[in-house]
Amino acid sequence: MALIAIAQNRRMSDYMESVRRAGGEPIEVAAGGEAPEHLLARVDGIMLTGGGDVDPSLYGEAPHATFQAAEADRDQFEIALARAAIAADIPFLAICRGMQLVNVAMGGTLIQDIPSQVPGALGHSVPEPRSHVAHEVWVAKGSRLSTLLADHMEDGETCHVNSRHHQSVATAAPGFDVTATSPDGVIEAMEIPGAAFCIGVQWHPENFWRTGEFRSLFEGFVQAANARKR
Ligand code: MN
Repeated sequence: MALIAIAQNRRMSDYMESVRRAGGEPIEVAAGGEAPEHLLARVDGIMLTGGGDVDPSLYGEAPHATFQAAEADRDQFEIALARAAIAADIPFLAICRGMQLVNVAMGGTLIQDIPSQVPGALGHSVPEPRSHVAHEVWVAKGSRLSTLLADHMEDGETCHVNSRHHQSVATAAPGFDVTATSPDGVIEAMEIPGAAFCIGVQWHPENFWRTGEFRSLFEGFVQAANARKR
């Protein structure tokens, strides 16, 4: 069974259950524990999770007034993990903060506060209920994400998602394609074409494990991890 390392955050259960339902074996990893290079030698996939804001000094900006730091040392640990996993082409799924983190780790930038910096933005911060559908996204045809979500989309390109973020990707890191946007132009997914599996999504597919809307995304990830294992 594919062993999936999941970056620890304050609310792990939905991430863990989504991996289990897709046939993987989840383990929690965090700063202060096993070093990234040791982890990568024994796990088959890496998942980065939601949480606080990435330190804007890491992409050369001063903090916006709304900046709320993540737990101590999370940025450094997860950046090291993301860079090593991508360098080794280890299957990688990055969710919400995780997508922002990997974008910064690989040289991209972030919008620090959507409500004050994106004119006409939709409501992207809808905290409860956690699986409430907040807005639609348009998924890029031909992307891996589009293939994975094929059974869940309307018209072959529209998907409804939840949303609990006040930041988003501004410029995508080199090597990444933007693969979903919301109607206000906010970037909602990205991927590295041709990678074993490297997808980031700005929404929280893990909150839907009971009803299975995004199970195919987790199954694709775990299958890629299993393929690497073999
Ligand atoms: Mn959103």
